[in-house]
Amino acid sequence: MKYDRIWNFNPGPAAVPLEVLEQVHEGWFNYVGTGMNVMEMSHRSKEYDEIHNHTAALVKQLLGLGDEFHVLFLQSGASLQFAMAPMNFLGEGKVADYINTGSWSTKAIKEAKLFGTVNVAFDGSRFNYTHLPSPVELKLTPGAAYVHLTSNNTIKGTQFLSFPDTGGVPLFADMSSDIFSHRFDSRPFGLFYAGAQKNLGPSGVTLVVIRDDVLRSAREGLTTMLSYKTHVDNNSLFNTPNTFGIFFMGRVLQWVVDMGGLEVMENRNRSKAELLYGFMDQNSDFYKGTVDEGSRSWMNVCMRLPDEELEARFVAEGRTAGFIGLKGHRSVGGIRVSMYNAIPVDAIRDLVEFMKQFMAENG
Ligand SMILES: *Cc1c(COP(=O)(O)O)cnc(C)c1O
Repeated sequence: MKYDRIWNFNPGPAAVPLEVLEQVHEGWFNYVGTGMNVMEMSHRSKEYDEIHNHTAALVKQLLGLGDEFHVLFLQSGASLQFAMAPMNFLGEGKVADYINTGSWSTKAIKEAKLFGTVNVAFDGSRFNYTHLPSPVELKLTPGAAYVHLTSNNTIKGTQFLSFPDTGGVPLFADMSSDIFSHRFDSRPFGLFYAGAQKNLGPSGVTLVVIRDDVLRSAREGLTTMLSYKTHVDNNSLFNTPNTFGIFFMGRVLQWVVDMGGLEVMENRNRSKAELLYGFMDQNSDFYKGTVDEGSRSWMNVCMRLPDEELEARFVAEGRTAGFIGLKGHRSVGGIRVSMYNAIPVDAIRDLVEFMKQFMAENG
């Protein structure tokens, strides 16, 4: 493969599009006549300002966001958002609904409990997180401040491809591992956020989108850096942002636009999922999916092989064959194939070929 690269199925930080790496490399020593790398520029310069605003504009363009949405670039990952969201929008006498579909939701719930009343509207731990809630399983609180969910469960391998109806209560979502992977209606969302290291580039920048009416309901008197208002009022330039990360995110988003936008991304991700799950379904006595069919993630495909020794061999031989990152999360075991936007259909074709061969030799 070009530059001796390998198919990278790491769960995050994860593969970025090769075209983007090449482009960024081109301007490495001198970004469009500035005589500098982007990371060497002042975050108050005109050149950087353009990069910053262009990245935000691409977010809005790709998601079809109206003027009622603000785009922020923050730091400390999705993990800080677990705390920042309830800190800003919960408090005395307020209730938030949380849908618990895995490890990341559990972490978000833990933080929210520090700031107000949390109603766990669905507790997937009772089913080992193998499915997402059906509408009847979801116990929402009328008048809740918000409903929080994890759109894609990176560790367990389930994904909301459509979102529950909350009857007008703002949806809050951790979209770290599937943002920009398919189209969705953003209007019910009050807040969504994503650490960049899965679908948007390098770690160290968190994309946050917040709706204006929700922002206006935020609590006052918070510490400056943890108040969304600070960052909205200062266009994410209150302090020094991750300038290079934001630049890189802009390049990744431009790549999505150049590929044909979210519809094309969605079709490509669906094709990858059909290819891999289709093969697994035909060979389910060897490659057994760990979640219910209706809840399967297009981004993280989790499976078990007949025994742990075979799983270890699969990972080791996969590595030799040119695939990295196939080991399942320690809490699930088995195999996990993380195939975010940057992974082309060809990578999945090659992987399926390898899986066929491995099964023929070990089945
Ligand atoms: C990776 C991941 C996180 C962790 O994000 P950090 O940026 O490391 O804080 C949170 N939520 C989901 C769904 C993830 O996939």
